[in-house]
Amino acid sequence: MLSRGLLRRSIYKSPAQMRLMMAPGLATAAALEAMAAAVRPGITTLELDAIAEQAVRDAGGEPNFMLEPGYRHTICANVNEHVVHAIPTDRPLEPGDIVALDVGAVIKGWHGDAAITVTLPDEADQGRSDAIAELSRVTEGAMWRGIAQLARATHLNEIGVAIAEYVHAESEYGILEDYIGHGIGRRMHEDPPVFNYPVPRKGPEVKPGLVVAIEPIISAGGIDTKIEDDDWTVTMADGSLSAQWEHSVAVHTEGIWVLTAPDGGAAGLAPLGVTPVPIP
Ligand code: MG
Repeated sequence: MLSRGLLRRSIYKSPAQMRLMMAPGLATAAALEAMAAAVRPGITTLELDAIAEQAVRDAGGEPNFMLEPGYRHTICANVNEHVVHAIPTDRPLEPGDIVALDVGAVIKGWHGDAAITVTLPDEADQGRSDAIAELSRVTEGAMWRGIAQLARATHLNEIGVAIAEYVHAESEYGILEDYIGHGIGRRMHEDPPVFNYPVPRKGPEVKPGLVVAIEPIISAGGIDTKIEDDDWTVTMADGSLSAQWEHSVAVHTEGIWVLTAPDGGAAGLAPLGVTPVPIP
């Protein structure tokens, strides 16, 4: 019997298709960079949303989150116990906040998707400042380990193994299971799923043409989530803090390239012994 998978369009992209994903990747990177430069106490996430939209449009892109039915913003801005899909608001950011900023862009029908976490130190609460910085550090490290593993893996489940090994070695944090990474291309969310933790199935082969968004979401407490009354915002069920980092990454014949980083991921991957290579 034919499995459904055989009837679907291949998840693997051609080199030409992956090259088309460079522009939306760079537009997404520009938005992240503009927001990171603007973050300070007093700024609102609605203001960050406008900054991100301008950066995406200046780079020739269109915000792709707006293409999701019912969503009107360029970013999701997940403050403190908010995990994903939080709508930007007029609440000014405050010292002690930890904010995951998730943004994407589409150009010529091809998508980019990435996220950073920013932390606002609180001089009056060193413990809080240290806690949010450490949560973001481990989450970013988990993302880079997942990306580095793509350069070596034979099957996609190895990404989750690498992420989980790192998180458990570095911390007592939890890895969310409700939200995972994904393929990306002509749609922002495509097959295959990219698990951030070990799963029994090996998943698809990691080979040239695979393009995935790797996005561990890490919690300082439990891993259960709930959806708020606005039907968008996802919050940690136990109110604990969370962080998210994400990049869209292409696997090609010569190596890997992080599409949503201006340097292809060179700085993040260097400590892990991986040198990204531009898509030929
Ligand atoms: Mg994503």
